[in-house]
Amino acid sequence: MKYVTGLRCRECGREYPVEPVYVCEFCFGPLEAVYDYTKIKKALSKRTIEKRPKTLWRYKELLPIDGEPQVGLSSGFTPLVRAENLAKYLGVKELYIKDDTTLHPTLSFKDRVVAVALTKAKEFSFDTVACASTGNLAHAVSAHGAKAGFKRFIFIPATLEHSKIIASIVYEPNLVAVDGNYDDVNRLCSEIANKYRWAFVNINIRPFYAEGSKTIGFEIVEQLGWQSPDSIVVPCASGSLLTKVWKALKEFKELGIIKNLKTKIYGAQATGCCPISTAFKLGTDVIRPVKPNTVAKSLAIGNPADGYYALQAVKESGGAMEDVSDDEIIDAIKLLAKTEGIFAETAGGVTLATYIKLLKEGNIDRKDCTVLCITGNGLKTSEVLYERTAEIYHIKPNLASFEEALKRINQKGR
Ligand SMILES: *Cc1c(COP(=O)(O)O)cnc(C)c1O
Repeated sequence: MKYVTGLRCRECGREYPVEPVYVCEFCFGPLEAVYDYTKIKKALSKRTIEKRPKTLWRYKELLPIDGEPQVGLSSGFTPLVRAENLAKYLGVKELYIKDDTTLHPTLSFKDRVVAVALTKAKEFSFDTVACASTGNLAHAVSAHGAKAGFKRFIFIPATLEHSKIIASIVYEPNLVAVDGNYDDVNRLCSEIANKYRWAFVNINIRPFYAEGSKTIGFEIVEQLGWQSPDSIVVPCASGSLLTKVWKALKEFKELGIIKNLKTKIYGAQATGCCPISTAFKLGTDVIRPVKPNTVAKSLAIGNPADGYYALQAVKESGGAMEDVSDDEIIDAIKLLAKTEGIFAETAGGVTLATYIKLLKEGNIDRKDCTVLCITGNGLKTSEVLYERTAEIYHIKPNLASFEEALKRINQKGR
């Protein structure tokens, strides 16, 4: 059953058939999937969704595939954790972590977008998939592409964290490390995508890929008992995730699944790469590209493809954007770990640190029901914590040596 009627230019509104195309031939605007919501309304209800397996595919009518799901069959439906310890620490009423550090096969929210992109690549009969990645996408395309039997070309900036490189190369894709930052990699990949008939998940398949991010929004609403929260904090790299979380809420409203939509969307960036947050603060719609310099490499996109749309989503919802320093990011990673037992990668640190800043500024109310999107697992970026963690107690293998250490530990009162 098909629910997608075509692609539409977000700028001039021109329509295109469902094909691996991503920019409007007339105005170069990005293309977006268009759905038949009347048809979806007949096929999809809360009850139908609730009866389905707990994966992101339970919302398949709202995803741009024509047949049945083929990739990422166990991805999604990650926990929504009530963060009581963290809430108490921060003095807020109702706080949740949307925990995408876990359950996904490659431990980040990129499993969502890749499940949809590679199912679509199968429908388009591609035999090779590729991506330009800041790390997590490389991991997800390498793994899901292996399972789905695709040839894989993965392009990354050469300076990526070692643990992220290992996490990709183990699946034996063709891993290409480019001397340059993500924006250089992406530019090169656009050229390659023009020449080779490959499914570049975040280039020529991007309109389909991006829709996968909506599932995090759908899940938040369902897991809150079919309610939308007061505020959601979302980390931004290209700005696609944030744009799609907002789209998900609007679609649920359109379908009558939620009655009123009061959610404010807040965007989180690292100060070392914050073109969207800067535009928000300057009150302009022009996103000025920057050269990234931050520990949050998964978010280090200096020229964000969906920056403009993310900014509009934030403004339309009545939210805000903020950015935080590397030290704040690391402190937030540690705070989340020691309060909630969740080890997030740097992007998670960005989200939590930004939330704390927004609270202090009075941008988010302490009485709000707030959801933080924690989008990737900390084991993938553990090197940022070297020399920045708590003390380790080295001892000899005897009781006396341990008790000497215990004295020091007790002095610290832990
Ligand atoms: C890719 C990524 C994001 C955000 O991606 P967008 O390009 O803004 O959609 C957030 N968190 C993590 C961990 C990521 O890998």
